Order: sequence, then structure tokens, then C-alpha cells
Amino acid sequence: MKFSKKLFCFIGPGASGKSSICTALSKTDLPITLSISTTTRAPRPYEIEGRDYFFVSKDSFTQEIDKNNFIEYAEFAGNMYGTSISTIKTSFAENKHVILEIEIQGVKKLKESSLLKEMDCELVVIFICPPTKEELVKRFKARGADSPERINERLIIAEQEIAESIAPNFSNYVIVNKDLDSSIDQARAIIIAELSKRSVFDTSVISSFIK
Ligand code: 5GP
Repeated sequence: MKFSKKLFCFIGPGASGKSSICTALSKTDLPITLSISTTTRAPRPYEIEGRDYFFVSKDSFTQEIDKNNFIEYAEFAGNMYGTSISTIKTSFAENKHVILEIEIQGVKKLKESSLLKEMDCELVVIFICPPTKEELVKRFKARGADSPERINERLIIAEQEIAESIAPNFSNYVIVNKDLDSSIDQARAIIIAELSKRSVFDTSVISSFIK
């Protein structure tokens, strides 16, 4: 019986709250795995190898590209980020769907990926939008990690990302993240609805009804 898999891509500018939403979703009872990306970025003080990212050198990242081990990869703010094919295949083999938290270039590559079609996998893009510019600035400042100049740069990047994400046919869903708990509920509802679609239904579970 046909069993379609879903790749849930959460996109949104820095400080939109997408990481918190994805982490919360990965701790629920949904049949999903949160993919851990590989990056050349240096770890932040609170980040843990294998939990937040696989941190690698530029040389090892290039080797992974050459071996075709990434289903998508992109450069963002001077660092490389990539999603390994094996993570996705392993999750699908365990009948789990996959959550990715990635930037927009990666989504564009996935939209063109023939591998996803071969794996009978559907891409679902969920855009996490900050409620207002003022709130985004407040969140950047609250992190205390950036200078006023850097905050301005990040705002410009955020505006570009928002414009692309809301362009027709780019995102399937939009969540305006005013309140984290409500946004997690909304994201969970989206995943449950997507996994209730007939196209994902494994008819073998009702084999006793089928002659
Ligand atoms: P950060 O350095 O803040 O952790 O991530 C920077 C950006 O890279 C974020 O938008 C994040 O979602 C994105 N990102 C993280 N992992 C990947 C990945 O595997 N592929 C792509 N294309 N983007 C990623």
C-alpha cells in the first residue's frame, strides 16, 4: 500500500520563534523526527553537538557535498548549513515524518528535489512570522547578542525573508507567533491535519475491512 511521507519545513526569520516551536513539537507524541542539521558555524555557548547541530569544519562540509550526502544545503550569514539524506531516510524507514528548521534557499532546493519525489515525500512549508517589526526588534535586543548595527542588518534580512515566504505558492501555512504556546498548538494542529490526509493513510491498518 502507498504510504506518503511528509517533510515539514519550518521557515521564518531569526527570533521568529521557529526553533522553540520545532523543539516543542519534537517532544510530543506525534510520529515525527526533528532533523539535526550539519553546520560550519561555531557553536554558541548553550549549544550541544548532536542536539542542536553537527558542527563541522568547512573542509568536512565540502566533502559531504562532494559525496552527495545532503538533500539540501545553503550558505547563510557566511556559514554553511545542510540536511543529510540519511537522517531523512532513517526517519522514513521508522515510519516517522520529518521536521526541518531551515532557511529559504534550502526550501527552494527541496521544492526542486527529485529525490523527494522518489521517496514519495510531500513538502509542507510552514512560515513562522513575527507579529510586528517592533516585537522582532524587542526579541533581538532581549537576546543581548547583537550590536544596534547588527540588529539593523538582521531586520533587513528578516524583511526579505518575510517577503519571499508570503509570496504566492511559497508557504502552505502561516503562523503569526504572538504567543508561543498558541503557536505550538497551531503547528501541532497543522501536522495532525496533514497526517490525517487520505494520501498519508496506511490502509493496512484497516485490512480487516478490505476484501
Ligand atoms: P542559526 O545560525 O541561527 O542556528 O541558523 C541560521 C539559519 O540557518 C536559520 O534560518 C536556520 O533555520 C537555518 N538552517 C539551519 N539548519 C539548516 C539546514 O540544514 N539547511 C538550511 N538551508 N538552513 C538551515
